[in-house]
Amino acid sequence: MKILGSIQETRNLVKEWKAQGLSVALVPTMGYLHEGHKSLMERARKENDKVVVSIFVNPMQFGPNEDLEAYPRDLNRDAKICEAAGVDLIFHPEVSEMYGPDFHGFVDMTVLPEKLCGASRPVHFKGVQTVVTKLFHIIPAQRAYFGQKDAQQLAIIRRMVIDLDFDIEIIGCPIIREEDGLAKSSRNTYLSEEERRQAVILNESLNDAMCAIEAGEKDAAKVKEIITAKLNTCPLAKIDYVEVVSFDNIQPIEKVEGAVLIAIAVYIGTTRLIDNRIIM
Ligand code: AMP
Repeated sequence: MKILGSIQETRNLVKEWKAQGLSVALVPTMGYLHEGHKSLMERARKENDKVVVSIFVNPMQFGPNEDLEAYPRDLNRDAKICEAAGVDLIFHPEVSEMYGPDFHGFVDMTVLPEKLCGASRPVHFKGVQTVVTKLFHIIPAQRAYFGQKDAQQLAIIRRMVIDLDFDIEIIGCPIIREEDGLAKSSRNTYLSEEERRQAVILNESLNDAMCAIEAGEKDAAKVKEIITAKLNTCPLAKIDYVEVVSFDNIQPIEKVEGAVLIAIAVYIGTTRLIDNRIIM
């Protein structure tokens, strides 16, 4: 397995592979890898000849008061996980390699980034779209793998690829959870023991919503009420949002029908966690 920080060297190696007729997969990450990332790598490994994992904590997608500095980083640990998953190349650039002193470009979109995480993190998806565009240009893979954990991000990337004619297939992969149901996240490391215990409330509130929907509930407002009521039983939980939206355009809906995304963001103490259910 190779680890490269240079855009040019990475591009050259991927071009070599493609010239040999090999299929290439990209798994974009911010590192501090866990089983969720591993599931994307393993799926990419099965479906492609070469697997590239990018590890880059992208400053452009963090707001001024967010956790850019605190975000956990450990390249040695990540490299071992990648090696064990059969990854061929880690692309791990410095910030200065990705954003030179005269950098002014960005990619943004209307409508899809406005709601959910975009409402409380106004610069986030502009940063995500810009860095993913750069990664798609540096590593011209046939397929890129994203987790449904970040469902709005997945919807935005899918839309961006269609709208801007990227020649890449976007594969969405299921959420990997801890044994008690908490969605795996690099940010779970911020939680104290008590916060970690209470953080299961996100998944439990979504389970309650799914039970109600399976029992015939179609009213999106009622579904939101069920989730909110459950979250409010948890002393350490502070709701950022609870939303029921169309998975196609991330706009609020009144009836649970068609492709639906139920998405929540909740502070447990000072740590903001997200979770969701997608109904197709
Ligand atoms: P991150 O490093 O948090 O930017 O995540 C990189 C990729 O891994 C994104 O496509 C995430 O959606 C995906 N991912 C993160 N956590 C999970 C999880 N628990 N299950 C599945 N995919 C995940």
